[in-house]
Amino acid sequence: MATPIRYAVDLTDRVHHLVRVHLTVPEDVAAGARLVLPVWTPGSYVVRDYVHHVQTIRATDADGRDLPLALDGTTAWVLPDDAVGPVEVVLELYANDLSVRTNHVDDHHALLIPAATFPYVEGATDRPHEVHLPPHPAAHRTWSLLPTGDDADTYVAQNRDHLIDSAFEVGDLPAADFEVAGVPHSFVWAGHGGAPDLDAIAADTRAIGEVCLAMFGGELPTQRYVFLCAGWDQGGGGLEHRDGSVLQMPVRTFQDDDLNARFQSLVAHEYLHLWNVKRLVPADLVEPDYEHPTHSPSLWVAEGWTAYYDDLLPTRAEVWTPRRLLDTLRDTWDRVDRTPGALLQPLRQASHEAWTKHYIRDENTPNVMTDYYGHGSLVAWELDLRLRAADPEGDGLDEVFRLLWQRHANTSEGYTEQDVLDAVAAVGGDDLAALVDARVGTAQRPEIDDALLAAVGLRVGEQPNGPIAPDLGVEVTEDDRGVTFAAVLRDGPAWRDGITGGDRLVAIDGVTVARGELDTALRAYEPGDDVEVTVTRGPRLLTRPVTLGQPRPRRRLERRDDATDAAAGAFARWTGHDLDEL
Ligand SMILES: [Zn+2]
Repeated sequence: MATPIRYAVDLTDRVHHLVRVHLTVPEDVAAGARLVLPVWTPGSYVVRDYVHHVQTIRATDADGRDLPLALDGTTAWVLPDDAVGPVEVVLELYANDLSVRTNHVDDHHALLIPAATFPYVEGATDRPHEVHLPPHPAAHRTWSLLPTGDDADTYVAQNRDHLIDSAFEVGDLPAADFEVAGVPHSFVWAGHGGAPDLDAIAADTRAIGEVCLAMFGGELPTQRYVFLCAGWDQGGGGLEHRDGSVLQMPVRTFQDDDLNARFQSLVAHEYLHLWNVKRLVPADLVEPDYEHPTHSPSLWVAEGWTAYYDDLLPTRAEVWTPRRLLDTLRDTWDRVDRTPGALLQPLRQASHEAWTKHYIRDENTPNVMTDYYGHGSLVAWELDLRLRAADPEGDGLDEVFRLLWQRHANTSEGYTEQDVLDAVAAVGGDDLAALVDARVGTAQRPEIDDALLAAVGLRVGEQPNGPIAPDLGVEVTEDDRGVTFAAVLRDGPAWRDGITGGDRLVAIDGVTVARGELDTALRAYEPGDDVEVTVTRGPRLLTRPVTLGQPRPRRRLERRDDATDAAAGAFARWTGHDLDEL
């Protein structure tokens, strides 16, 4: 058997955000070996150039002599052709970037993302990769998504891809162990503060996991699963790995109902990736190129369909009420309706362009791109409704997912967009597959209306509460200095009258507008009123007359009074709840 690629991680300087990685390049591949640090990590489709955080790298041969390391491109190094192995390579990394796809090491914890940490040896990626990661200080503990090896503090990946798909966390951290369908799970809270109720998290996660498993059938496709959840003062998100996930939430998440619901949705999202993405893999992502972007047109399924279920699964698990589900779907619907870019960038293209658009945002983003998460989720919802309208006793989109799973899970080819359309056709017919193809291939929004919602006993009503401000057509960010137009929506009121994204709002009709005051200020006017909007644009002070627009409709999804028994049954199969609960 080939000698494993071995890494040893030294965290003794973690208080300074420093990590030292010792890579042992085996004797048989040392001469001329090319060592590569990935530029991106699967699940987050943007070039991050992790090499940015490599402070030093040096190599010594079997006799302890220094070896020259030639840089090859921006993120690889080449050992001399006459290098005598095993060669020891030591990298010092700076790790002070807390996100789910970057390293963050401090006095409290050490989150290590393998793509950002472990250079691989080209040509030796198929052999086992071992990581020796003793906690520092010794009283702390290491959590790994990898199985443990025979040696203490050692974790073993089957190959390079397995290692890259398996994050690490170290610390003196609260954790809960529980089971889903007899399989051991752990939830590790690496929050910098905050006090999660681990028993409640375990119970919710178990319930979500069980409905997820029920959807696909069979056994849980993993032997163990670990959630590594970092908490910080802001932010949020997740990254799926083969047998676990990395989550990030604000530390006070668990004291706030809406934030907690977002967290539950995130848990469902990452958990569903156990199936969709990690074992049911888009064809282009089966063998990713870690040195260059790997494009896929299928993120509207990989992420969009997953996003649809991350609202549905907590509802079926009775973690959410059906009211929360409907309000969340409505919010996604409103957001996509308000995004001008949804009529400019087809969903398939949005997926391909994740690398340059989705993950690289500026003030023009809503005008030029659509979100393959939210927009993809709406396509899934429309498809689900159409399937349930055609067959009220059926399982809707669940059936398509199950079929995809049966046909394409754990294959060396993964699945293509055509495979998805074929599965849609098998469950719902060729016309429906053609409709989905059009929804993702051209710039258009899904069509969800009363007629379609009636299939599950719903209609579109109006949100009852409060007066609504006339529309300015902007997205804002706010800080202590006030309100900034983070985006000005194409063809909206502010756009038409010459306000642009990035302008900082000073006053409306000569009266200053402070943080939190914009909505109140606008409520003093009627749609069609002209107001003087004063902004700063860089060093300039500008005032523009703006005609305010009609407010956005405030929709609310409601139960139909005339819902048929078939529709009530379809609602129950869809959400796991009785229609009367609304
Ligand atoms: Zn995802």
